[in-house]
Amino acid sequence: MSIAINKTKCVGCKKCLSVCPGSLLKEGENGKAFIKYPKDCWGCSSCIKECEFKAISLYLGADIGGRGSKLTTDNKGDIVHWVIEEKSGEMHIIDVNRKDSNKY
Ligand code: SF4
Ligand code: SF4
Repeated sequence: MSIAINKTKCVGCKKCLSVCPGSLLKEGENGKAFIKYPKDCWGCSSCIKECEFKAISLYLGADIGGRGSKLTTDNKGDIVHWVIEEKSGEMHIIDVNRKDSNKY
């Protein structure tokens, strides 16, 4: 798994840099984020949840989203919208309330 950072959408807020458990995200010369070791990303999704500008997307594995599918998030208060975009352009949205996310 790995991520892609949209340089046009990234505003250089650096929030994603501090949440990556592998310290894989760095600040580039232009002040925008980049991933230094993409092969080391294990797809924890911390960075995509942190980015308020939807600049980061996670490539989903074939077993969960299909090859070429990408995942982004859109946070609205307690609700996290998980947005899956298939290679064909078809969109799927899964809404999760943060207050319920750690219930078993
Ligand atoms: S959180 Fe998003 S906008 Fe901020 S530096 Fe990271 S990619 Fe850029
Ligand atoms: S998905 Fe997780 S491991 Fe991969 S770059 Fe983002 S925070 Fe780091």
